[in-house]
Amino acid sequence: MRKYVIAGNWKMNNTPAQTKELINEMKPLVAGASCEVVLCVPFVDIAAAVEAAKGSDIKIGAENIHWAESGAFTGEISGDMLKAAGAEYVIIGHSERRQYFGETDDTVNARLKAAIAAGLTPIVCVGETLEQREKNITVETVAMQTKIAFRDISTADAKNTVIAYEPVWAIGTGKTATDEQADEVNGAIRNVIAEIYGKDVADSIVIQYGGSMNAKNAEGLLAKEHIDGGLIGGASLKAQDFAVIVNAAK
Ligand code: PEP
Repeated sequence: MRKYVIAGNWKMNNTPAQTKELINEMKPLVAGASCEVVLCVPFVDIAAAVEAAKGSDIKIGAENIHWAESGAFTGEISGDMLKAAGAEYVIIGHSERRQYFGETDDTVNARLKAAIAAGLTPIVCVGETLEQREKNITVETVAMQTKIAFRDISTADAKNTVIAYEPVWAIGTGKTATDEQADEVNGAIRNVIAEIYGKDVADSIVIQYGGSMNAKNAEGLLAKEHIDGGLIGGASLKAQDFAVIVNAAK
C-alpha cells in the first residue's frame, strides 16, 4: 500500500510572519491526516515554517536545491543547508524552473543526486506542454524526463523518491487534467519506473498529480489507481482548501 503524499508548493509567496500565521491556521485543520502532509516554502521561510509546524505532522520542504555541496554559486542553496534549516523534502524540476530558469533534464538529475546525498526526500516534477499533448507525445515526453532524471539513481534511492506528474498547461491555469488523463499518464510513468527498477519499486513509488488540484476536484483525482497524492500550488495558500485536499487523501 502506498501512502499518499500531499505537498503544497507555495512558490514565491509569504514572508516568515505570514508563513507562521498560515501554518498555525492549517495545523488544527490537518491534524490526524492519514497522508503525509508537506509544505514546500521559499528558502527564507523554511526556519519559520519548521518552528510553526512543531507539534504537528506537517513536514517542511524547499522549492529547489543546488547540485553542488558548496562553492561559488551566488544565490544558490545546497542540500546540507536545507537539511540544517530543517527541510525534509525538496521539489526538483518544477515546470516554472524549467520554463523561466533554464532547468533541463540533466540539471534535474544532478539536483536529484544532491537531494538524495543530503538525505532529503525529492519530489521530481515531470509533465508535458500543451503543444506536446496536442502532438500526442505526452507519454514519450514524461518517459524521457523520468529516464533522464533517474539516470544513475540506485533502486533503494528511487524507491524513496516522489514523482509529481504536472501537465504544464494545467499549472496555475485553473485547467485540470481529467481524472482519467492524469491516471493514464501516472500509470505510464509507473511503467517507466518498472522498466528501469522492476515491479517492486514501481508498485511502491509515490506518483502525485499536480495542476490546479483544488478542494473540488481532489477527491476524484485521488481516487484513481495511480494517483498517490498531489502537488498543490494555489490551493496550498488557503488553509481551508489545503485541508480539504489533505483530508480527501485517505
Ligand atoms: C504547482 O505549483 O506545482 C501547481 C500544481 O500549481 P497549481 O496547483 O496552482 O496549478
